[in-house]
Amino acid sequence: MGHGHGRRKFLAGGAGAITGAITASVASHEVGQGAPTPPAKDKNAGPRHVFDAHLHCPAESGELWQWYPVTKTFEEFVAYLDRTGVDRGIINSQRCQHNGVPAEFVAGNREVARYVERYKGRFVGACVINPLFIDEALREMEECRKKLGFVWVGELCNYMRPSYKYTIKEFELLVEQAVKLGMVLDVHTELDEMDYIIEKFPQATIVFPHFGDDREYANIFRRIDAVARHKNCYLDTSGYGHDRVGMLEYAVKTIGEDRVLYGSDFSINDPSTVIARIEHSFLTEGQKSRILSGNLLALLKRFQP
Ligand SMILES: [Zn+2]
Repeated sequence: MGHGHGRRKFLAGGAGAITGAITASVASHEVGQGAPTPPAKDKNAGPRHVFDAHLHCPAESGELWQWYPVTKTFEEFVAYLDRTGVDRGIINSQRCQHNGVPAEFVAGNREVARYVERYKGRFVGACVINPLFIDEALREMEECRKKLGFVWVGELCNYMRPSYKYTIKEFELLVEQAVKLGMVLDVHTELDEMDYIIEKFPQATIVFPHFGDDREYANIFRRIDAVARHKNCYLDTSGYGHDRVGMLEYAVKTIGEDRVLYGSDFSINDPSTVIARIEHSFLTEGQKSRILSGNLLALLKRFQP
């Protein structure tokens, strides 16, 4: 997700601090009907693991996705994850997104690899490429998979520079390469793009970030329903829509509890507001744990046994 989009503004008023939670006694089919007085969370239960599927890390060259910069370096980025309770995460470099020419996306992916190495076990690296430079992109995906061990491609944001359409032939080649190499594809989409990708690439494992899109109110239910109908697809909680109370519950009820992933879109959005909505939700403790980390761990395990 990029900065400079007015559509993000409504996110500013996220949920509050993490407090109550309901017990595991609410069966999944009752999700959405709610419990009037959720009991307080067991204070002895310990912190839940939180594995963020959607992180954009700042680049050493200065690229940073943040409306007003407060976490400028990778160290500050990590410190804020610590503060908000995010244990682990999938990172991609803003250097790849900012100016997606081969020299830049290759450099950005290498920087990600260095961070993965430096913070052993904490981060999973993601490869970002641009299909307009298809030869370099396919080669880079192979390098990332075979030499750097990355199993994640994206978040691909086709509106960044240079922009492209997902309907181009080169994007098909990119998806084929991801399938061939055994990589998860993470693609930022508006609803029409999502529909196209879902129909076109049933063989790919695809994570769609954001419950809603630019036309959130018109499309949010349709986006969730589309992911629900396709078992190869996942939805992450980041960005617009998760903060509308009930939408997380609707997503879990519709998609199922195994294909909704916690994602924050930090460094643009605050990880803690998303965590708060999940913790406060009318989901079971087991469902919350699956969304916050279990589902992503299971997905990665399929690609990186
Ligand atoms: Zn994003």
